[in-house]
Amino acid sequence: STWWSNVQMGPPDVILGITEAYKRDTDPKKVNLGVGAYRDDQGKPFILPSVRKAEEIIYKKGLNHEYAPIGGEAAYTDAVAKLAFGEDSPVLKNKSNCTVQTLSGTGALRLGLEFITKHYAKNKEIWLSTPTWGNHPQICNTLNLSHKKYRYFDPKTNGFDLKGALEDISKIPEGSIILLHACAHNPTGVDPKPEEWKQLSQVIKDKKLYPFFDMAYQGFATGSVDNDAFAVRLFVQEGHQVMLAQSFAKNMGLYGERAGALTFLCGDEEAAARVMSQVKIMIRTMYSNPPLFGARLVHEILTDPQLKAQWLKDVKLMADRIIDMRTKLRAGIEGAGNKHSWKHITDQIGMFCYTGLKPDQVERLTKDFHIYLTKDGRISVAGISSNNVDYIAEAMHKVTS
Ligand code: PMP
Repeated sequence: STWWSNVQMGPPDVILGITEAYKRDTDPKKVNLGVGAYRDDQGKPFILPSVRKAEEIIYKKGLNHEYAPIGGEAAYTDAVAKLAFGEDSPVLKNKSNCTVQTLSGTGALRLGLEFITKHYAKNKEIWLSTPTWGNHPQICNTLNLSHKKYRYFDPKTNGFDLKGALEDISKIPEGSIILLHACAHNPTGVDPKPEEWKQLSQVIKDKKLYPFFDMAYQGFATGSVDNDAFAVRLFVQEGHQVMLAQSFAKNMGLYGERAGALTFLCGDEEAAARVMSQVKIMIRTMYSNPPLFGARLVHEILTDPQLKAQWLKDVKLMADRIIDMRTKLRAGIEGAGNKHSWKHITDQIGMFCYTGLKPDQVERLTKDFHIYLTKDGRISVAGISSNNVDYIAEAMHKVTS
């Protein structure tokens, strides 16, 4: 007998399960399209040249390992807020933002949603896109936060369902929280166009909803950090006081360093100070203060003009490789004479492509071709390379014809 005889075995993580199965496969042609991390054209993890350089600079500074402040270093939070909202953003100039360092994007979402459970005075209901990143509903469940869905992806077009989204959002009870992917929507790779964001902003304003942006891929979608911040900046311009979760896992390749941030736009400096005081209490009782190293790298890169220029090139290089692989994959499937439309492969953006493959087709890809992906047909384009793109295209052609 044990103190824990009551504990039930939990389900394994879906993505990690795929990686396990991939590892067990001994076929030399095997491909892992489940992994949510960037790979170079040799299929290897990529250390950004700007990050390498920042590591050297930081090492030479001989910094100590004292605790960071509860909300992270102000120099870090200032730099990351500017990256998101823009150098000259009035909401930063008037100090109406409360920004803290978090344990990457997940930590920002968790902290933000937990803050809502404790301090949000309106309708504590989180509205999520259908589909959304699996961790969004899971975090809500952990916090006993009620969550509901609005239409987003249209399986008929493999694109954005603007009409469905507007219809559903216009029925959300006033004062609810709407979670939006700032760019490179995961898992679909489908983003609203600028004109569509304007319509979303309007209905969200009309319904008095509270927008919480999850920005895990700034720069990763189009290759430009400013383009990818379009939606967030538009909402701010239109007067929304948004909440924002940021991650540097993807755009700096700092996955395991857990560098992220959470921002509340509070309207004025006094409200920001009150929110900050409560956020700090929440952090203090959870993990006291955030890790230093990743934040030091991010800060160095964002504040050294030369390094920043290098980083912008690094981000573009990753985005461009992904865009190139989308083009080649689509060309390969179409070139094989496949009768379906594959335009969505190049219309979609960011790390993921929602292929539209059905579960039985996914199963065949894995069983007959040793290609691993999630059952919903999502592939990580980062897992495609010059060496395997033709093979993947041929396999996708075969299971769909
Ligand atoms: N949000 C979305 C939509 C994501 O895809 C991810 C990464 N998979 C994250 C947040 C957060 O990732 P991390 O905690 O590694 O920053």
